[in-house]
Amino acid sequence: MLVRCVLKECRRSFDRAYTYEVPAPLCDGMAAGCLVSVPFGAGNRKTEAFVLDVEPAESGKEDATYKSVIENLSGGPVLRPDQIRLGSFMRDRYYCTYGDAFRTMCPPRPAKGRSVRTVFLEDPPEAATMLSEGLLKKIGQIRVVEMLLETGETLLTDVLSSCHVSRSTIDTLSRMRVVGSGKARSMPEAPETEDGEERQAAFVPNEEQREAIAAIDALALDASAPGDRLREALLFGITGSGKTEVYLHCARHILDAGRSVLILVPEISLTPQMVSRIRGRFGDLAAVMHSRLTPRDRYAQWRRVMDGSARVVVGARSAVFAPLENIGLIVIDEEQESTYKSETTPRYHARTVARYRAIQHGAALVLGSATPAVETYYLAEAGRSRLLRLTQRAAGAAIATAEVIDMREELQAGNPDIFSRSLRQAMQEAFATGRQALLFLNRRGHSGFLLCRACGYVRRCLSCSVSMTLHKTADGRASMICHYCGRVEPVPDKCPRCGNEAFGRFGAGTQQVEERFLQVFPDSKALRMDQDTTTGRISHADILDRFGRGESDVLIGTQMIAKGHDYPNVTVAGILSADLMMGMGDFRAGERAFQLITQAAGRAGRGQAAGKVYIQAYNTDDYAVQTACRQDYEAFYRQEIVYRRTQGYPPFGVIGLVTLLSADASMAAGAAVEISHRIREICAEMQGLEGISVADPAKAPVYRLRDRYRWRLVIRAAREPQLSRLFSALSERPLPTDVSLSMDIDPFSLM
Ligand code: ADP
Ligand code: ZN
Repeated sequence: MLVRCVLKECRRSFDRAYTYEVPAPLCDGMAAGCLVSVPFGAGNRKTEAFVLDVEPAESGKEDATYKSVIENLSGGPVLRPDQIRLGSFMRDRYYCTYGDAFRTMCPPRPAKGRSVRTVFLEDPPEAATMLSEGLLKKIGQIRVVEMLLETGETLLTDVLSSCHVSRSTIDTLSRMRVVGSGKARSMPEAPETEDGEERQAAFVPNEEQREAIAAIDALALDASAPGDRLREALLFGITGSGKTEVYLHCARHILDAGRSVLILVPEISLTPQMVSRIRGRFGDLAAVMHSRLTPRDRYAQWRRVMDGSARVVVGARSAVFAPLENIGLIVIDEEQESTYKSETTPRYHARTVARYRAIQHGAALVLGSATPAVETYYLAEAGRSRLLRLTQRAAGAAIATAEVIDMREELQAGNPDIFSRSLRQAMQEAFATGRQALLFLNRRGHSGFLLCRACGYVRRCLSCSVSMTLHKTADGRASMICHYCGRVEPVPDKCPRCGNEAFGRFGAGTQQVEERFLQVFPDSKALRMDQDTTTGRISHADILDRFGRGESDVLIGTQMIAKGHDYPNVTVAGILSADLMMGMGDFRAGERAFQLITQAAGRAGRGQAAGKVYIQAYNTDDYAVQTACRQDYEAFYRQEIVYRRTQGYPPFGVIGLVTLLSADASMAAGAAVEISHRIREICAEMQGLEGISVADPAKAPVYRLRDRYRWRLVIRAAREPQLSRLFSALSERPLPTDVSLSMDIDPFSLM
């Protein structure tokens, strides 16, 4: 028996199929999709590989001599046949290796045995001293120490996920002898059913929902449709219009037809209500997959899907690879969200992968949104997907009315405060009748930057070309933090340039909003939720639960609070500095602002009482702000699509971004010039790359990041596969030394 294998980890130049002989004792159970160990290279180094396929015995190659497979590591297949084909697709599309693609599909088998790694502080009093004396220089390190001071010995995986840090942070701390590591018996798996889970019965769908359900059922179950056709629908419905209910009805029909269902959500921790509804309806048939699971739990969930006992998968981006058999329906909820785009290799978009899988399985693909991505709406308009609308709030709640407030006028009228007069009054009235408010601001920390009032000096990060943000810690101390690299520094007491002691604090962040709120409403309680408050033991879910139970009058937060939560008692939403989102300097900034404002606005008035939304901005004429205020997606879309068309931005073209990085400024610049020539050469040599244009090399907007200089090349092409081919060709050639390169198609951020 012969098998063709690809290496689990290798450079692209070694990424092809290698043939091996399977020794007789290993033939039993050997199949495509198995993980095996093979000898590789001149030294026959033992290497892990995936079996692409088993060659039929009569292929006539049996005479040649091949190296032999050493061991079948997985027993049975860890990849289904359709996933192997998906891997080849990803390799072409995202210029990654087979191994990169396959590794995103199957979780590593957790180390055998019942022990897991823990971490603890070597000397807690000493660590506390380091913390208070400001000896830890990275925000990630500070978070870990703060957490361990509170929790004692803790599972490594819990520390990583709670503190939003990577293993390297722990490694650094252990080199500094601050943190030690140990082993603990692994915890039993979390029980599948949690208390308080919604055992909610299905609703009788309303007219619009009925139509949507029928249309999706027809797409999924119509056997007469040609197999290779994309069966896609856009479920375009305002928040609360009952989209989730539509997914759940269709999912039930698909299951009854013996097929399986994949539901993607932007982030599991932000959508607890969705998860509990799915579990409530489908019980043990449902599996939840996301990155914050411990390796054991992730593996256990994956196993249940692989062996067919779970037939409904709900999960974040990477769940799009779930090994479901015979998928009938794929749902992408809030399809416009940036979390569906992977920022690490392979840099895939879940929507693109979902389209490929939907065609493979003959499944219906449903994209759900209140504010669809411009590209998605364009496809629906062009008739490439079915447009289904839900225009009413399902539970009969009123839609909030909104008002744009010009903060320049507030200033002129003598109110320099963060809160406009009308927002303040609205909160007063709401609290007086026991209602709650949401305050939304897209900047965390206390103040955006510190500026010397005498000479204009701004405190910048030493490693990055950005200003540092002022943060306050729980005990009231302040420090400067770089939001890009996590560097922490003390607040200067006088200007290092001119010696002046008067600093101005500009650009309010969520901490300052909380501080100010408590001054204005001293009798009220506030909860805050942003990346800083959700570290350590307190999770998103805790904060949201407490707000939902009425433990505070206001919830203040970043975009985290704009999403997916249903609070009937909220009647006021304030969007502070709505135009803060506009200045981000790339072509999606307007779209993102529209989406965020609309989502935040959708949080008010979800119960029986009508809600009101206050949108505060300086630049009130912007069409994103204006159309978001009216919650008029189509008006926004009409203007946006004209801009996209004239500029050749998606959906009328694709943008590729090549970034060159080096610790040496001139090397980075030189490499950028060299690579731009190389790209032009490739475009001239290869067929099908006509019409690709490369802009001259330019410094990235954040020129220095983590001590590396960054140059970028913006490339425009008519279609995505052109860029895939160009990037594949580019990745085959060696790079200048001491320079690294990253390539991204349709990047989420051009920073
Ligand atoms: P969306 O996903 O569009 O935000 P949901 O499906 O979460 O909307 O529905 C919003 C609210 O309306 C939920 O509380 C849901 O239980 C309720 N709901 C949905 N469909 C119906 C229906 N047909 N009849 C009554 N209530 C419904
Ligand atoms: Zn920095």
